[in-house]
Amino acid sequence: MRAMFKSIQVKIVTIFILVIISVVTVIGLFMTTNIVRMYNDEFSLMMEQVFTPRLISELEKSAEHNGSDGLSDIIGTYIGQLGLDTYRFYSILDGKTGEVIKSSDETRSQGMEKSDNIIIAMTGRTGSTSNTEKSYMDYAVPINIGGTPQYIVYIKDTKNEVNSVTRNIFFILIEALIFSILIALILGFFFSRTITKPIRDLTKSAERIASGEFDVVSTVKSDDEIGILSDTFNYMSSALHETMGEVSSEKDKVETILRNMTDGILAFNLSGQLTHINPEAKRLIGRQYYDDMRFDTFFKEINADISIGSLIYMNDTGDDENKTEREATVNGRVIRFTFASFSTENKVGGILVVLHDITNQHKLENSRREFVANVSHELRTPLTTVKSYAETLIDMPDCDEAMRTKFLGTIAKEADRMTRIVKDLLTLSRLDEGQYELKPFERIEMTAFVSGITERMFFSAKEKHQAMKFHAPEAPFSVMSDKDKLEQVIINIISNAVKYTPDGGRIDIYTGSLYTDAFIKVQDNGIGIPAENLPRIFERFYRVDKARSRETGGTGLGLAIAKQIMNQLGGNITINSTYGEGTEVIISVPL
Ligand code: ADP
Repeated sequence: MRAMFKSIQVKIVTIFILVIISVVTVIGLFMTTNIVRMYNDEFSLMMEQVFTPRLISELEKSAEHNGSDGLSDIIGTYIGQLGLDTYRFYSILDGKTGEVIKSSDETRSQGMEKSDNIIIAMTGRTGSTSNTEKSYMDYAVPINIGGTPQYIVYIKDTKNEVNSVTRNIFFILIEALIFSILIALILGFFFSRTITKPIRDLTKSAERIASGEFDVVSTVKSDDEIGILSDTFNYMSSALHETMGEVSSEKDKVETILRNMTDGILAFNLSGQLTHINPEAKRLIGRQYYDDMRFDTFFKEINADISIGSLIYMNDTGDDENKTEREATVNGRVIRFTFASFSTENKVGGILVVLHDITNQHKLENSRREFVANVSHELRTPLTTVKSYAETLIDMPDCDEAMRTKFLGTIAKEADRMTRIVKDLLTLSRLDEGQYELKPFERIEMTAFVSGITERMFFSAKEKHQAMKFHAPEAPFSVMSDKDKLEQVIINIISNAVKYTPDGGRIDIYTGSLYTDAFIKVQDNGIGIPAENLPRIFERFYRVDKARSRETGGTGLGLAIAKQIMNQLGGNITINSTYGEGTEVIISVPL
């Protein structure tokens, strides 16, 4: 029902009907009041025209002689002029009491009220006041005898005639009203259709646009406001189409960026639900399902102390300086989380989290820190020894010669050791910076080359009663490489074998070619390297047994340098070892 009254069509028809009702009512009121007034005026005029001073003096004379009969005789001759009929009659009243003496209508004149006009006439003046409101019209003429009113000639009209006229008009108007309401209904219906139909068409088009059909065009054509509305609608729909196109292409762009970003991205809404995750973030977090992932539980799980509330607070206080970042280990990798809030419609809409894998950086930093600590430690030990021996010598100026020589010998040994460390470090740093320049490659006949080095190392093996053997294929073969560098590596590996093989052990040195590489294999039956130490064996300063290494004068940098050099030469170095059984180091160089 309410919806019906909301319809423009019903409103227009109602307005039509209301307008017609008011027009008819105004006309009705106007007509009836005017007719009543006209009737009143006509009555007064008629009376004034009949009751001229001449007739009044004639009436006075007749009354003087024949009383009220004389009066009625004369009035009887004026019946036509006074318009007397069933609704208008005359009476002769007593001038002093106002009582009816005679009347042309005995029934109506009985108990007749004393009207204003009768009272005026009783004072001697003509009662001619008229009032359209009253239910009757009257006129009272005093008939004076000897200066005082003896009789009153009184004309009264019951207005029945005018009432029946107005009643007729009223009924005619009611009929007209009903008829015009019918016409208004029909006209209003058709007229409003011309307005509501295009509006309904426009509404349908708008509904289709709202459901996503952006290419809908309104076909409503007219020159009026609705036509303008339709044109504006079409303009709006094409602008919307364009904007939606731009928005969706922008969205595509953003999605492509997010998809292909090397950083992970997470977006959470204010209630902490995950609303977006890109493939990289999935890879870093490594879960199977993300539907139930929530901000608070996730960051609690990985022990990152952060809440949405604090992030929004930070955003509100414009605290951009302290970009909120947390580092945490997720899925075995170190991830840096950077938090930022984003806004929708000028309010904080959610939290964006950027995930950056800093595992390698972390490792690098750790190893750098470890390296510095190692360098300091390695240098401090010999320095302490040097300092304490030197101080002892200063404190004891007359100590014996043998002791002095021993102390100075230790100082020199420790100084040598420091020199070695510094030299090795310099070599490594030059290798790191690529300043360790290679000599032009030369042809190296491998059998002769490796056997020459073995011969030179033979002496140190002999000192430890170790059996060192060299094995090579019969056919000669050669590689192109930097002879000095390769020699440095091989010497380092053989001397390690000697160092870490107990007295009486065996060392075998092989050379040969396999597929595209030449190889040198140094095998010993020494102390070996525990499996858990093997992966770190090429790290700087890494030693299985620090004390033992130091005893043998090692710096812990030899293998690191060897690895770097082999990399530069385009070759490789690998170590296999069984703890307590022996070690085998294989150096390979491309043929
Ligand atoms: P260092 O100067 O201490 O010898 P390296 O870098 O040459 O340093 O070697 C690193 C560590 O590797 C040594 O301290 C030792 O523990 C282990 N190592 C190297 N070669 C052998 C080997 N042939 N047998 C057993 N352990 C070895």
